[in-house]
Amino acid sequence: MNTDFLFIKAEKSMWPASANIFAIKDDEGIILIEVGCGLRKFTRVLFKRLEGLDFKLDDLHTIVISHAHPDHMGAMSAFYKRINPADVKIIINEIEKESAQNIDLLNESFDINLIKQQNFESGVKEFFGDTFDINQSLGMFCSMSQLPDNAYIQTIKDNDVLQLGNYQFKVLTTPGHAPGHTSFYEMNHRFLLSGDLIGEIGTAWYSPSSGGAIGYLSSLEKVENFPIDYIYPSHGNKFSNVKERINQIRNKILIKDQIILENLKKGPHTILDLAKLLYKTTRAQAFPGVAIAEGHIIKLEKENKVERDNNLIFIV
Ligand SMILES: [Zn+2]
Repeated sequence: MNTDFLFIKAEKSMWPASANIFAIKDDEGIILIEVGCGLRKFTRVLFKRLEGLDFKLDDLHTIVISHAHPDHMGAMSAFYKRINPADVKIIINEIEKESAQNIDLLNESFDINLIKQQNFESGVKEFFGDTFDINQSLGMFCSMSQLPDNAYIQTIKDNDVLQLGNYQFKVLTTPGHAPGHTSFYEMNHRFLLSGDLIGEIGTAWYSPSSGGAIGYLSSLEKVENFPIDYIYPSHGNKFSNVKERINQIRNKILIKDQIILENLKKGPHTILDLAKLLYKTTRAQAFPGVAIAEGHIIKLEKENKVERDNNLIFIV
């Protein structure tokens, strides 16, 4: 890769670490793809690293965001302390724009409310602390920043072509993990900026309002249509075993369908029962367990494999 593309890898790979950041140099200056976590310990390191790369904030003219999650755009408020909002264009999927500007909408896309409905006090306490405040759902990791009203925003949509310096990206809306989660396929160098859709390891969580299991699987299928030589994920290292990774993630999702169906054969379960089958720790059962279980039940209902009666889910 040329020196006009910089991979600024986050210190840690796994959530809730800051997302990786990419920088592209062009004739007008610098473009950043993602800015990472908003917590001070992250932004302090980030600005130091950017300085070390001879990166001048005055040269920054564009920031591209893959989706409105705190580990990808939390640092925006730190940037806005140093730059004028009118001077830097934010490029974000039209579906993610509102969440990026309104934390309440972002909370909805996490489906935190599903946990409330399950009377899962211990899980809620472990995850959110003693007092369940829905706004904590975002404060808990990476410190979110909303884009201010006077932010200079350009929205993009599925299939748009985005020229960033010498790189030509096809915009792929890839829901599942976030409603307007966006992956960027570089058409000439054949690499993918996969965001959280395909990480180096593991599988991103997926809640129904973000696309759920159905959205995630169709996004994987969509991305598979492109000849991808290697992937730069938002978490972890660059990798080239693209097909293998996609299959691993797909299998990890599909196996949850199997676990759910096997257990429903033994009798009806609540969403919380299913979350407990899928996740070991109380904390993970609360989030993302309940949201993920709900996403699978929506999928299995569509496939006429299960049905609901009030809070109980039965096999058909
Ligand atoms: Zn994310």
